[in-house]
Amino acid sequence: MVIPSILEHAHTLAGRAVEEGGVAVDATVGNGHDTAFLARAVGPDGSVVGFDVQEKALAEARECLEAEAPAASVRLVHAGHQTLARHLDEAKQGRVGAIMFNLGYLPGGDHSITTRPETTRQALKASAEVLRPGGVITTVAYTGHEGGKAEAEAVETWVSALPQEQFRALSYRFPNWSNDPPRLFAVEKRRDA
Ligand code: SAH
Repeated sequence: MVIPSILEHAHTLAGRAVEEGGVAVDATVGNGHDTAFLARAVGPDGSVVGFDVQEKALAEARECLEAEAPAASVRLVHAGHQTLARHLDEAKQGRVGAIMFNLGYLPGGDHSITTRPETTRQALKASAEVLRPGGVITTVAYTGHEGGKAEAEAVETWVSALPQEQFRALSYRFPNWSNDPPRLFAVEKRRDA
């Protein structure tokens, strides 16, 4: 396929922003695939901080990381991403190259435990603050589950209101995908802001 899928495109954008030896955040660890991707991208001298509210997800992620990125320095935090700023030490504030959000519920887990519009918005706001100039936030939003459409709209509203002089923003979607299309939003902090 020529046109990248939503997840491929999210990885491409995050991959362009992270630097070897840099800092990255996985705001929704889930099964750990994005965490492992970020860990490989920052390499053994870099660091990744991951958040999830479910211990089950963090346990899955630990296994995934052992198999896919054993050398990486990853800290998994059992807390909501809305507490992100509190869990990043001072040296990392303003230095994060990529922050990935993959919203909704844990695949293979309890579908009633989902990310929520208000805490997602708080986490996005905190993310924009800890991002380094040239860094990117990617957010994949799903619209098929209960509350998913409202959450995608909340993300779109937040992204759309960002000041153009400080952030570049992108919305990526498949317009002829008829049932509950996922959306990707990306936000880049301008270097010259
Ligand atoms: N990126 C993952 C999938 C993420 S699924 C992968 O590639 O496998 C979404 C995850 O968000 C779930 O595991 C859910 O527990 C978690 N979640 C829900 N609310 C959250 C919150 N407030 N902060 C952080 N994670 C949350």
